[in-house]
Amino acid sequence: MASPFRVFVIFAIGIILPAGLLGYLGFKSFQYENIVLKNQSEQRYTAIADSIQKNANDFFLGLVDALHLLSESEAFQKWNSPLMINQVLRTSDIKGFPVKRLFVFDEQERMVVPYQSDGSATVGAATDGELDWGSFAGDIHRIERLEFVDKNNAEAIKGYEALKSKPLPDKLQTALLKNIASCYRKINDTRSAETAYIELIKRFDHYPDPVGYPDGILGRQLLAELYDATAQKEKALSVRLDLIEGILFSRWNVSSVQAEKIRKQVEDAIAGKMADAQAFGKEERERWSSLQSQKSRLESLRLSGKEFLKSEWPIAVKRLQSHGWLDKGGVLLSEINSKKKSVDIRGNELMVVSPVLDSSSHHRKGLMVAILDGPSVWKVLDSILMNQTQPAGLTFAWAQISVTSSWKPGLKRSLDVISPALTFTLFFPTADAQGDFLRHRMWTYGGMIGLSLLVIVIGLIVMLQAMKREKENADLKAEFVANVSHELRTPLTAISYIGERLNLGRFKSQEEVKEFYSMLGEETNHLRELIEDILDFSKMMGGKKVYRKEPTSLTEIIEEAHARFDVKARAQGFSVSLKLPSEPVTLMLDGKAIRQVVLNLLDNALKYSGDSREIVVGMNVSSKEVVLSVQDFGIGIPSQEKEKIFEKFYRVGQGMVRDTQGGVGLGLAMVKHIVEGHGGRVTFISADGKGSTFFLTFPREEQR
Ligand code: ADP
Repeated sequence: MASPFRVFVIFAIGIILPAGLLGYLGFKSFQYENIVLKNQSEQRYTAIADSIQKNANDFFLGLVDALHLLSESEAFQKWNSPLMINQVLRTSDIKGFPVKRLFVFDEQERMVVPYQSDGSATVGAATDGELDWGSFAGDIHRIERLEFVDKNNAEAIKGYEALKSKPLPDKLQTALLKNIASCYRKINDTRSAETAYIELIKRFDHYPDPVGYPDGILGRQLLAELYDATAQKEKALSVRLDLIEGILFSRWNVSSVQAEKIRKQVEDAIAGKMADAQAFGKEERERWSSLQSQKSRLESLRLSGKEFLKSEWPIAVKRLQSHGWLDKGGVLLSEINSKKKSVDIRGNELMVVSPVLDSSSHHRKGLMVAILDGPSVWKVLDSILMNQTQPAGLTFAWAQISVTSSWKPGLKRSLDVISPALTFTLFFPTADAQGDFLRHRMWTYGGMIGLSLLVIVIGLIVMLQAMKREKENADLKAEFVANVSHELRTPLTAISYIGERLNLGRFKSQEEVKEFYSMLGEETNHLRELIEDILDFSKMMGGKKVYRKEPTSLTEIIEEAHARFDVKARAQGFSVSLKLPSEPVTLMLDGKAIRQVVLNLLDNALKYSGDSREIVVGMNVSSKEVVLSVQDFGIGIPSQEKEKIFEKFYRVGQGMVRDTQGGVGLGLAMVKHIVEGHGGRVTFISADGKGSTFFLTFPREEQR
């Protein structure tokens, strides 16, 4: 009995256990995948942070490089001569960044640009006033005699020129050129004097004369005088403008006091001339006014240079030294001078330092410092961050910006080429595509696992029910076999008993013999009916039962059945009353089958009448249908059984009833089959303990 259930339990465990295991494995793999995806995204974010860090660092190193490149230009290599600040300024747009200020320092960390000399600057070597003529002393004396004693300028010029063509030190060359020029002036050869001055200017622009004046200045002053004397106003003006420009842009290495003096002199000369001479061209006027305006700009630059030198330079140098950056170049945040402890990353200035290297020895000969415009630098940095964080859905913040607490803590990096290092943090997105994807997958996975478990559970329930039904059926069949055997045995026992009595001649009278024979006939009939019933039923179930329908009077059939049943009913004290219409009701029926139906119902009514002894058969005829009813007043059918009584082999499970009343549970199943085979239906009403009424409803239209 328990074995199918045991099989089921094993089966269920066999399915649920692997399913559960599969679900668990699925969940685990989902978890692992989650971790992998998370790691992947973290790796991606790390790569982004690294790349931002690298790009930003590279950006600053690029600025250092740009300055470095600038420092390799010619102007920086002619270290002995003062740098031409205008040249530097013209190239000071580094990598598209407006350089606010540019400072250059020499090896001793003295500011070279803007020129800050306060007289202490080295001004060449020849300051003794005495020229060392060396081996040419004799020649020189001879020629000077010609010039100054004999006043023979023409001869003197010849002598000087001859001497000049020899390889002489610069010191002598410059002296000779000046002498040659003055001789030409004396003989009024303006042209040649001009040529000599121009040569002096060109070849020895930065060469200091015995007083420390560069020959470039002296030559120009003399040239201007020459032009004045020969009334070449425009040329004189142009040379003086050159002078002022050179002074303004620190072209020559003169002390600031000297420079100021010269500038004033030249300016006075120009201003006077400008006032009374209208002859000067537009070009000169414009140049004059532009120089005037440059003056204040350069002045302020010089001032800021002084300021810078005083306040920021020592700290910057210290910091650069501590980082070993003096020879590599570096980037300093402008806060170096501020008293604030934290870095003001939105500061207005950024300091980029690059060493100036000697092109031949590669030694550092100085440092160049560019002060960059803060906002444009932050713009570049922000765009570097933005470009990479935006597509990834990341948020970023510079170290000092307070962070919204809802942001997920992220990756921190520092721009370490800057001193002090500037840090930024990347924050993971709170909601990103990947998160959505994971959630989506979680639902899909969960749904799949849940659904498959549900299907398995439902399947098991259905199976369990099927098994239950199967078992019930098996039980019913077993009961059926027992009932049939019992039903068969009863008449057989009677038959064999009567046969034995007749055989042994054990009877009292001929009357009794007659009675025996009729009993024998009855029991045999009973036996045949039972067997026929079973055969019929098996035919019905096999679908082989064919109803031979012909116009038949239903009332007649009922009367026939009643007649047959009445004997048995009377014997048991039953009164069966017929309430039939007077007119015969004819339908298309298989008479034999329908009679069997009526007999079955009557039989049941009798079997389950309990103490009641009354059965009523009625018929209700309408235009549409004929309803036949068989009513008893017996035990009734418990409501929970109502569904099942039409099932084959089913019998209401009351031991008493079954034991006392014969039956194999086929009757109602057959009734239903036959009536439905006639297009009709079987219904009943029943009240527990008060009796039941079965209704057979046949449609009329079909039969007409
Ligand atoms: P059986 O051979 O046991 O009578 P049936 O198929 O005719 O088999 O009936 C099935 C069951 O329905 C019976 O066992 C009985 O319990 C119940 N039943 C049938 N007719 C009646 C009735 N008139 N009153 C009470 N119970 C009935």
